[in-house]
Amino acid sequence: MIDDELRAIAARTKGFLPEDEAAALHEAGLRGAPHGPLLEVGSYCGLSAIHLGAAAREHGTVLLTIDHHRGSEETQPGWEHHDPDVVDPRTGRMDTLPFLRRTLEEAGLEDVVVPIIGDSPTIAPLIRDGLGLVFIDGGHALDVAMADYDAWAGHVASGGLLAIHDVFEDPAQGGQAPFDVWRRAVADGFQPRSTHGSLRVLTCP
Ligand code: MG
Repeated sequence: MIDDELRAIAARTKGFLPEDEAAALHEAGLRGAPHGPLLEVGSYCGLSAIHLGAAAREHGTVLLTIDHHRGSEETQPGWEHHDPDVVDPRTGRMDTLPFLRRTLEEAGLEDVVVPIIGDSPTIAPLIRDGLGLVFIDGGHALDVAMADYDAWAGHVASGGLLAIHDVFEDPAQGGQAPFDVWRRAVADGFQPRSTHGSLRVLTCP
């Protein structure tokens, strides 16, 4: 569990991560960190980076957090998850990077969390294997989510963890792409380890 000060910062950070899922994500970070650095796809405004970054700090490693910061399909204007606050008035485009930087600054995590700005499949070949945890929480369209999985699954160290957010078995509860990614991971040999709400964690064989 992160400390009260970080919890207060998390409480005012944009994004959707219920408390039990946040605690499970932090726990996964703590378990994965001995195997290597942590990596997250989908920084948004830094909410999950608080929880994973705190875990990285405890183990003396870092969190790489990747996002193009232009918003995924489901966060664009007109979609349910859109937040007009994150639109850059100069261009009318989304820009969540200033929010991420503010979160990391307030949380005192700038030395532990390394933001990488760009498209995750473009960046993946440039990052070494042997990651302790990969958290997939980027775009939720099937092609985007699967491309993130394809790009990063092979980077997880043996014994490291793969975490996937927004996994809903029931289509009435949410989009199916993250569930399809979870099924693909199981088919590829990742072993289901835990489920908290829509957060599923698997172990890399
Ligand atoms: Mg999510």
